[in-house]
This record gives sequence, structure tokens and C-alpha cells, in this order.
Amino acid sequence: MPNRREFLKDVAGAAGIVFVGCGLVDGAQSQGTKKRPVVVKGRRIRTVDVHAHCAVARATELLRRPAANQGADGPLLLEGQSLAQRIAAMDAQGIDVAVLSINPNWYDIDRDLVTQIIRVQNESMAAFCADHPDRFAAFASVALQFPDLAAEQLEQGMKKLGLRGVAIGGSVAGKELADPVFHPFWAKAEALGAVVFIHPQPAATPDLNNRLKGNGLLNNVIGNPLETTIALSHLIFEGTLDRFPGLKICAAHGGGYLPSYMNRSDHGCVTFPAQCQPGVPKEHPTAYVRRMYYDSLVFTPEALRHLVAEVGADHIVMGTDYPYPWVDAPADHVLNTRGLSDAEREAILGGTAIKLLGLPTP
Ligand SMILES: [Zn+2]
Repeated sequence: MPNRREFLKDVAGAAGIVFVGCGLVDGAQSQGTKKRPVVVKGRRIRTVDVHAHCAVARATELLRRPAANQGADGPLLLEGQSLAQRIAAMDAQGIDVAVLSINPNWYDIDRDLVTQIIRVQNESMAAFCADHPDRFAAFASVALQFPDLAAEQLEQGMKKLGLRGVAIGGSVAGKELADPVFHPFWAKAEALGAVVFIHPQPAATPDLNNRLKGNGLLNNVIGNPLETTIALSHLIFEGTLDRFPGLKICAAHGGGYLPSYMNRSDHGCVTFPAQCQPGVPKEHPTAYVRRMYYDSLVFTPEALRHLVAEVGADHIVMGTDYPYPWVDAPADHVLNTRGLSDAEREAILGGTAIKLLGLPTP
């Protein structure tokens, strides 16, 4: 039996995969950029970015549409970027490990083609990460429009390929993640202890998209956090999180609007009980919000302080949204947030992600 690394080399070779996926040129070396260590109380901290986009060129060719993310967070900026540039950018931002994910733009694709696309993506990402285990890890991608297939892909991605969980959209071809059709996927994610990174998809709600047209990128600045808010709220209010209490969900962009306005969710069924199913959800909605995880992409130290106050420092992990230049100093954002203890800063900068994702010690 080949070990995992040999297996990944074999599949990569057999599939003719060239590691330009994720915008990276394999074999390039980091050069010339000084690594900026992140230090808390004199101690070097290992930092992790859980929100880092990429694409696999061969999968994009199979899909015959622009790379994932096109139109979501803007154009994919990684095109042609070398591994040296990528690592230099991580070093400049004080990021030790980037956990790569691909935004799903394949939820409308037929079963045969999407099976190929996901295989190419997951095997490419796994092989790439196996070559650079000290700097990169990756979430699996799955064909969630076929929940049984997605469950298999997740199991294969984690057990055979060593991927660290799964990245999914905030809705799937017009269906909410709380739709019972997805229960087999949630059951598998719970059984595997998989971290499920939920990233919004802007084209998910056509009526809303119409209202978000016009100047100012409203489909992104409002639409993305709103999609996450809706997705998480359905998972709470439809009882999905009661049915699968062990799920480890991590939401992009600080969870959208939900954590900052979650108490309204506790009062809806109290104020209008006739519109709520008795006993669903079992607990106050805010209890579920506090169980999920969120990235730190909330822009100001005050916003991060508030997120910490609502969900706890131990439920926040660092996220940059790379390659989109929303932030340039993600570690300083955490270091400059007032009221955090040193242990809490270390947890947000990397400690919690290392534990959650089971990242190996270098
Ligand atoms: Zn993103």
C-alpha cells in the first residue's frame, strides 16, 4: 500500500495535473521577502488563515466557466501568481498556514461532470498541500447538489486525501442548507468531525440580487453577509443543528449580520408564537450562534471586540479572504483589539484553527 504522499503523487501524475491550481506555480521558491513573525508576550505564535481562496486550473477548464469566485468577491486575482509570490504575501501578512478553499460555482452541473471536477480539485489541492504541509492546508470541495455524492466526496477527501474539512456555499442551487435533502451530508460531516466552512454565494437569491444591483457592489458588501445570515438562521430555526448537534460550522465574514444582531432571533417566537413550530429549535437561537465558529473578517477592532463579546474569543479564527485585498494586516487586527487576553489573541490568530482542523505540528 502506498502511503498518502505516494498516493497523491500517483494520482497527480496519472491525472496530468499541473500545480498551477490555486494560482501557484509548483517548484517556485519563496525569495526575498522577510517573514514577519507574529509575537504575543514575547512568544512566537503560529498563525492560520482559514479564509483563503484559490482555483484549480484543470477543474476550471472542465467546468468551462470563469474560475470560482468570479463575480463573487470580484475577479480572481491569483492568475499567474507564483508560489513565491503567494508565500511572500503570506509572510508579509504574518500568516504561517493558509487553509485553501474553492468557492463553489458547480452546484448546477450534472452528476458525471461534477464528479470529475470535484475529483480533480480535491486531488490537486491535497497533492499541493502534501508538498507544502508547513504552509498550506485545504478544505475539500463537494458536489452538494447531490448530497449522497457530497458525503462520499467529503469522506474520501478527509480520510484518503488528508483534507481538513469542507467548504460549501450558503445555499445550493436555490435550496437552503437546512433542507432535509442535505441531511445525509450533515450526518457525514458530523460523523467525520469535519469543519464545514460556509461561504456565501451571491447569485443564490435572484429577487434579492435585483435589489442589490447598481453602484457600490451591494451584492457583495450587503448580499454576502446577508446570505450567510439567512443560511445560518435556517440551520438554527429548521432544527438542523438540533438533529446534528456535533456539527462544527465555521462561517465566513464574521458570520455576516447574525452574531451582531442575534438577540432579535431569540425574541421572534416569543413575540409571535403562532408563527413558530413548538420546540423547534430546542434552545434559544443565540445558543446555537455561540456554538458555531466565525472568521475575523469584520474590519475594525471594535467590530471584533463585539463579535468576541457575542460568541466568545474561542469561537473566532483568523480569515483574510485572500487574494481579495479587504485587509492588509489581519494579525494586527487581532493584536489591536482591546480587552483580549494573550491566550485569547493566540487562540484567534491560530490556536483554535490548529485544534479544530487538526493541523500537524511542523
Ligand atoms: Zn471569500
